Amino acid sequence: MTDPTCIFCKIATGAIPVERFYEDDLVLAFPDQTPKAPTHVLLIPKQHIPSHAHTGVADEGVLGRLMTAAATVARDRGLSEGYRLVTNSGEQGGQTVSHLHLHLLGGRPMGWPPG
Ligand code: 5GP
Ligand code: ZN
Repeated sequence: MTDPTCIFCKIATGAIPVERFYEDDLVLAFPDQTPKAPTHVLLIPKQHIPSHAHTGVADEGVLGRLMTAAATVARDRGLSEGYRLVTNSGEQGGQTVSHLHLHLLGGRPMGWPPG
């Protein structure tokens, strides 16, 4: 199911074109439009899931695929020195687009703790 008002659903369906770094039946990876690192890829489920907080046991398949797809994209994009995966959830988590996504960030050292 997709939400016709959701920007990431429009990207998933192709209504908004993006460079598709990785795609399978469940997930899509594409560049973040405002990159926060030399490599900044977003990985999304093709179905509309508003956030990580909205997932449960029924979503184990797509959640697992997001993680393994992120490893594939990290390898494909040469992040052999390491990378960071982030999912922001809800207002205090800093989520601004209400469609679940993983940020894959790499190409520079990452600080800790995050802001
Ligand atoms: P959040 O703040 O929800 O964790 O992350 C949303 C991310 O989506 C941000 O890093 C922002 O730059 C990115 N973003 C927002 N709108 C678009 C868009 O239309 N296209 C792309 N490629 N990235 C977007
Ligand atoms: Zn959506």
